Parts: sequence; C-alpha cells; structure tokens
Amino acid sequence: MDTPVATQTSTPREVERIVNGMPTSDGAGVRLLRVLTQDLQRRLDPFLMLDYFHSDNPDDYIAGFPDHPHRGFETVTYMLNGRMRHRDNAGNEGLLTAGGVQWMTAGRGIVHSEIPEQEDGMMQGFQLWVNLPGKNKMTDPGYRDIPAADIPELTTEQGVHIKVIAGEVLGVKGAVQKPDTEPLYLDLHIPAGGRFEHALPADFNAFFYVYEGEALVGGRGQPVKTKQMAVLETRAEKGAVSIAAGGQALRVLLIAGRPLHESIAQWGPFVMNTREEVEQAVMDFRAGRF
Ligand code: MN
Repeated sequence: MDTPVATQTSTPREVERIVNGMPTSDGAGVRLLRVLTQDLQRRLDPFLMLDYFHSDNPDDYIAGFPDHPHRGFETVTYMLNGRMRHRDNAGNEGLLTAGGVQWMTAGRGIVHSEIPEQEDGMMQGFQLWVNLPGKNKMTDPGYRDIPAADIPELTTEQGVHIKVIAGEVLGVKGAVQKPDTEPLYLDLHIPAGGRFEHALPADFNAFFYVYEGEALVGGRGQPVKTKQMAVLETRAEKGAVSIAAGGQALRVLLIAGRPLHESIAQWGPFVMNTREEVEQAVMDFRAGRF
C-alpha cells in the first residue's frame, strides 16, 4: 500500500479517459484544437468547450473572430502569447495580452469580436466555456479584463508555480469566484520531478490539459502527453488530484467545477436548457434583440 496523499480526500483520482482533441477552424478561419468537444459536455458538466490555439503562422489566426453572438453561458479566454482585441455591443473594449484573462458572461445575449492585434509572432492560449445555471442564463451580460499582474500566483514548497485564475488553492483566492459551479482554473508549472496535489470536493468534475511536458497522474502514475487532455474520475471516495512531472518541467491547465445536472441544449453559440429556449435565442438575435 502506498502512503496516502496528505489531503482531506485521501485517494487520488485516476485518469478515466485521454482525449487528443480535434483540429478545427472557427471564426473567420482561426485554426485551433478543440479539446473539450460537445460529446464531453455531460461528462464534464459545467464545462462546455475548451479550445487551444497555438501557432506562429499568422495565416492560422490573423482573421480572428469577427462579430458573433453568445447566450446562456460564460467564455473565459486565457492568453499565453499574443494580443487580442475585444469589442462588444455593450460598449466594452479591451486588449487581452500575454498572461491575461478575459471573463465574459454572455447572459441573455452579447455580440462581440475577438481580433488578433498582431501581424506575426506567436499566438497561444485557451478559450473555455463555462455553463450558467438555468436561473442565470438570462442575466445581464458582463465582461472583465484581468491583466496578468492581477492574477494571484503562488509557489508551493515543492516548487510548483500556480496561477490562480479562478477558485482557491492553498488559501490563495483566484482572480474570479463564481457561485453555483465554483470553477477552479489553475495554470500549473511543475518542475521536473515535482508533484502537485490538491483536494477537491468528490462530486466536482475535473480535467487537465498538458501544454508542455508529460504528466504522471494519480496513484498509478499514468502518463499524459503534451497536447492531451485527461478526464479525471469523479467518484464518491476520491477527491484529490495528484499530478507529477517526469524528467522535464510540466505545464498544465487544471480545471474543475461543480456540475449543474441540468439539461443542455446547444446550437452553435447559444447554450440553453431546452430546444425552445435555443430557438428563442436564434429569433432574438436575428431580430436584433441582443
Ligand atoms: Mn466569442
């Protein structure tokens, strides 16, 4: 028997499934890797989508995402490299730069554009979609730019460097706290041979994405390679997350949250509870009611 992990939920979650993602293009032709795809929405409730974009070829990103609508959820964009200009029909404008986060609540409706503000160089980052509970899907839209300097960071005794985008870890509160789904969103830099351990409520769904290095997960040390996502088990007797780096440094996004257990009806950029609500969203958008 191995020594138990020293957290309140002692047994670490193992990898349930490894996902390689699907290369696709979105917006006006931005090439990206869709890591969390629609078939995982129920399993990873409350998370609806995760895209990874990573290219130093401007042809892959220069066209950006011209005006398009959203309703019923939140979009979280985290830039690692590059500059992206946001504009929306509520009059908000912002420039997302390296290390920064944009947290946008689409609520009852927003029309926005996301356009790269660079003609060459590396563009790298993520966009996560977080569902809203039915009671909040028609809330007022909101938007927050969080520059890199405003994202709390800490380094553990094991030398793991953590950017706390949302939620809380080791007593450090992240830049964003949300009710209902209580999302945890961490960018972890784990040095070679290092390990990150964290207790989560056992009913939270959790997954992580490796963007540099190779992760060794759980009690079995199952490997997860660069550009792979690992869905972690959600089981009553297991809460903890345990991720180790092998012989080289590791960078991962760890994302977890409380499931909503509501029905999900999606048509493109609208995510509601029922098909009727999605049809209403399409009608409202076409009638200029966003
Ligand atoms: Mn968008």
